[in-house]
Amino acid sequence: MLEIKDLHASIEDKEILKGLTLNVKAGEVHAIMGPNGAGKSTLANIVAGKEEYEVTKGTIILEGEDIEELAAEERAHKGVFLSFQYPVEIPGVTVTNFMKTAINETRKAQGLEEMPAKDMLKKIREKSELLDIDRKFLSRSLNQGFSGGEKKRNEIFQMAMMEPKLAILDETDSGLDIDALRIVANGVNKLKSEDNAVIVITHYQRLLDYIVPDFVHVLYDGKIVKSGTKELALELEEKGYDWIKEEINA
Ligand code: ADP
Ligand code: MG
Ligand code: MG
Repeated sequence: MLEIKDLHASIEDKEILKGLTLNVKAGEVHAIMGPNGAGKSTLANIVAGKEEYEVTKGTIILEGEDIEELAAEERAHKGVFLSFQYPVEIPGVTVTNFMKTAINETRKAQGLEEMPAKDMLKKIREKSELLDIDRKFLSRSLNQGFSGGEKKRNEIFQMAMMEPKLAILDETDSGLDIDALRIVANGVNKLKSEDNAVIVITHYQRLLDYIVPDFVHVLYDGKIVKSGTKELALELEEKGYDWIKEEINA
């Protein structure tokens, strides 16, 4: 699904990623953890194709295709989904209407016709039922007055509707309450399949009480310095990141 090899990337001439290698296969859930400033969000943004970063070395292959030259939008159309850390409020545009537009824009870019209204409604019904989203929520203005949990619910609903091949959830460093954690975890667990892959970036070992990742990686100073299974996350929770630093410097 995703093959990142020896990735080096900078922003404003400061090198942030310093030789990062990561392989994600279809059907897998990967968690990326690491101290603040390690480069986790940078990695997410670069895979999604945000333009403020400069890739100086290395490759990013999505389903066998080098995607480096593709714009963010084109990557999204190929099935890369990045959750939004800072959701925008759009008064007057409902959760549902925003989604309809997004889906039809994607279809247009793929050379497809608009989704018939009946199919769209069916899909909205299916996905909202799967995620326990009620009708009232679907007709609210996008992100307006949303609680943390409701923002997450909306994001997960967007993910469900877009059916991405590769979903990257970059969790903010603060403010995720237990309700929001559960919503994210429930969404990931229900949406994972043999055909897609999920990368969850998190500060919180707690999230991994609800999502069981196949692999846990530690991103430290621009590189994946350690990979393991869920036990690694428990170890990090218990011991923090200093021992990793000592291991690297030893
Ligand atoms: P993490 O998500 O692991 O906390 P980030 O990827 O956000 O880390 O940031 C990694 C480093 O890159 C930090 O030192 C941060 O200050 C720097 N950085 C990130 N974005 C920018 C930016 N837009 N301009 C300048 N420096 C940035
Ligand atoms: Mg940070
Ligand atoms: Mg971050």
